[in-house]
Amino acid sequence: MQQVDVIIIGAGAAGLFCAAQAGKRGRKVLVLDHAKRIGGKILMSGGGRCNFTNMYAEPENFLSDNPHYCKSALSRYSQWDFIGLVSDYGIAYHEKTLGQLFCDDSAKQIVNLLLSECDKAGVKVQSSCAVQSIDKHSNGFTLESSHGQYQCESLVIATGGLSMPKLGASPFGYKIAEQFGLSVKPTCAGLVPFTLHEQDKSVLAELSGISLDASAECNNTLFKENILFTHRGLSGPAVLQISSYWQPGQAVEFNLFPNGDLLAELVKAQTQQPDILLSTALSQFYPKRFVQTAVSYFALDNKPLKQYQGKQLEQVAEAFTAWQLKPNGTEGYRTAEVTLGGVNVDQLSSKTMMAKDVDGLYFIGEVVDVTGWLGGFNFQWAWSSGWVAGQEV
Ligand SMILES: Cc1cc2nc3c(=O)[nH]c(=O)nc-3n(C[C@H](O)[C@H](O)[C@H](O)COP(=O)(O)OP(=O)(O)OC[C@H]3O[C@@H](n4cnc5c(N)ncnc54)[C@H](O)[C@@H]3O)c2cc1C
Repeated sequence: MQQVDVIIIGAGAAGLFCAAQAGKRGRKVLVLDHAKRIGGKILMSGGGRCNFTNMYAEPENFLSDNPHYCKSALSRYSQWDFIGLVSDYGIAYHEKTLGQLFCDDSAKQIVNLLLSECDKAGVKVQSSCAVQSIDKHSNGFTLESSHGQYQCESLVIATGGLSMPKLGASPFGYKIAEQFGLSVKPTCAGLVPFTLHEQDKSVLAELSGISLDASAECNNTLFKENILFTHRGLSGPAVLQISSYWQPGQAVEFNLFPNGDLLAELVKAQTQQPDILLSTALSQFYPKRFVQTAVSYFALDNKPLKQYQGKQLEQVAEAFTAWQLKPNGTEGYRTAEVTLGGVNVDQLSSKTMMAKDVDGLYFIGEVVDVTGWLGGFNFQWAWSSGWVAGQEV
């Protein structure tokens, strides 16, 4: 039997960051992960460059049944703290868009930063280790694992959500929460592409590869970024963002002309070039391939502009600026970046991340019911919640 002060299950972003903080305080820390390779998800993140935080991170960028829960951690360890650490390591980075910070070189630099912080703090990281059972006793926890029995005073669950099972995701954290009497908010895939009903897919799949400026709106939330047509459905940042707010059966409203007044442009074209076809006019604003498909998809007549009455041009503009699309569903956990829902945060302390009724048991990162927008917010939650727990365990 091995005895340590702190065991952290899950060597992802939150677990490794928490481990380094606790180790720096002189705690003897062991991190266990069932995956062979440490940091797999970080290496894949941000297209291999890891969007490690967002300069504009605020509590408003996170979804949770309790929107106040994340505030304390985000303010105690902010994006600026992590940016400072990245700079200390000499990692070059850049803002891609909307405050999103990416490594210039490779996500491997963030994994190396975390492992180096753990190393300096004397943390032991054990990969390929399956935890079979956890028992609580008066002064801590006993774990049975594929590497033998361990005992610890504090136990941190940092096993993430259900997204991307091939990278090691498992429902383990939720099961441990339930074992200790904590409730788990229903989970579903977030930041995930939409799939389409056959009647939409059969037409829109032709547009695969086309990306447009757009806004996507659902449940009083609007994101203005790109959308991308794929052979399976719809993706791109605006779609991924709105997917976290969408409920099955609902329509999403897309504005495919978000930076101007399409009706005014069509009226102007009608006055200046009355003999051109509608499709020719629209091709000034959209790729030709998109216009051809859109005209038939929206069941528009393709006549010379002079033949349109005022109301008819309004209807054309509306087809593009208030396109109501009912997705068939999402691609699910297989391709989702995050998992919505998770361990009910009302049962955790927002100051320490410890379960209010289970002394010594902590939950951090994506396993809890806090989910960020696309753009570096989810890693920031991993750093902030990991840091906070690391001061206490
Ligand atoms: C493809 C992809 C790209 C992403 N890109 C970004 C990005 O650029 N920016 C951003 O902010 N967010 C991004 N995210 C989201 C971000 O990666 C996660 O929100 C973040 O990694 C969550 O950190 P975590 O430590 O809570 O969980 P994870 O990083 O998922 O780590 C959990 C760890 O627990 C381990 N584990 C699970 N079950 C068990 C078990 N039973 N026993 C032992 N170990 C277990 C897993 O192997 C894993 O190592 C991306 C996600 C994906 C899938």
